Amino acid sequence: MTSSTCSSTPDPTYHQAMTNSRLVLANATLFDGTNQQVRSEPVDIAMADGRVVEIGTGLSGDEVIDCSGQLVTPGLIDCHVHFMADGDFGPNVHAQTPFSMTFFQAAERMKRTLECGITTVREAGGADLGVKEARDKGLVLGPRMQISISILSQTGGHGDTWAVCGAHMPGMLDPHPGRPHNIVDGPDEMRIKVRELIRAGADVIKVCTSGGVLSPRDDPQHAHFMADELDVLVSEATAAHRFVMAHAQATQGIKNAVRAGIRSIEHGIYLDDEAIQMMLDAGTYLVPTLIAPMGVIDAAERGVDIPDVILDKARNVVDVHRESISKAIDAGVQIAMGTDAGVTPHGENLRELAEMVSLGMSPGAAFEASTRVAAELMGIENDIGTIEVGKVADLVVFDGTTLDVSDLRNRVTRVIQDGAEVA
Ligand SMILES: [Zn+2]
Repeated sequence: MTSSTCSSTPDPTYHQAMTNSRLVLANATLFDGTNQQVRSEPVDIAMADGRVVEIGTGLSGDEVIDCSGQLVTPGLIDCHVHFMADGDFGPNVHAQTPFSMTFFQAAERMKRTLECGITTVREAGGADLGVKEARDKGLVLGPRMQISISILSQTGGHGDTWAVCGAHMPGMLDPHPGRPHNIVDGPDEMRIKVRELIRAGADVIKVCTSGGVLSPRDDPQHAHFMADELDVLVSEATAAHRFVMAHAQATQGIKNAVRAGIRSIEHGIYLDDEAIQMMLDAGTYLVPTLIAPMGVIDAAERGVDIPDVILDKARNVVDVHRESISKAIDAGVQIAMGTDAGVTPHGENLRELAEMVSLGMSPGAAFEASTRVAAELMGIENDIGTIEVGKVADLVVFDGTTLDVSDLRNRVTRVIQDGAEVA
């Protein structure tokens, strides 16, 4: 698997922040992404040309920032976000938004995400190549990203926007020149569609192997797509050195995805013991998105127009989702942090760590799920996810020296990406 999609060097024409000078974070309490704990003694971290160049004590630099009493971690990674939505998924919102406005909105959400310490994301459907390249070229600030562009869904599946009146509900999956149509049925169509997505710039392929919560005409407990369709999907993606991520809530949909060789299960609401064992055996990652169903309920409470059928589904899954993820944590499934931000407003991503800890993860494990393990899931661990000499200098500085996750957002004081302070 290549890691080229996440290591592109910002275009110097636009990117003002990148410099040749040497920046040192001094006297920092360091969590480097390993061992689930901070180092016992404070250290200095030096970076230049966008990379970490030295870790030690008494280091000199062109700029030295004293980080006494502060925690430094690798830049955090959210493995499941949607920049083309912002907790505002009532169909009327999209109907009233001019098409090109959605890209400017995405830019603001990307900046908001970066400001809370998320320096890398996997975009799980919506953003296209232009959104990614605008960041890579330094036109806008945001997390580096892998994009999936469209969300592959069978007719009547989670990504099908057909409404009972016969119209299609406008939303973040509407096809446009950069975002291929997302409904696919049968292995032959699947083969073409995966190739179209790769042509359009997809770094990862997203598929729905079950129904979901935000789609009115399906059931989160039903599996979608047949084995022959998923086999073609995975073989086409693999041929192009892409991983596949599966929106998978139904027990059978999860098992079908694992059996097909899909790399990560997103949501994992109805896990049973057999599904968990299959994931352990195959090395499948789980991306819980615990704050997502809660976010749908929160949105209704703050007045977002959500149909009753969707709200009922959200209420039905919250408890069973938590039980499933708790069992997976106990069993030792590899867990990577992901929020489904977009269902919730962007910038609240760090709440997910507190939810993971509430289900039995240690704070150190929650930080690893949000750094090293997430980078491994995305195949970018040679560059991203830990603080080591030679790696990309993405770091977050928090007030206080503990890994306590209860109030993380308010503790973020500096965000460094590619060796330059960006927030
Ligand atoms: Zn999602």
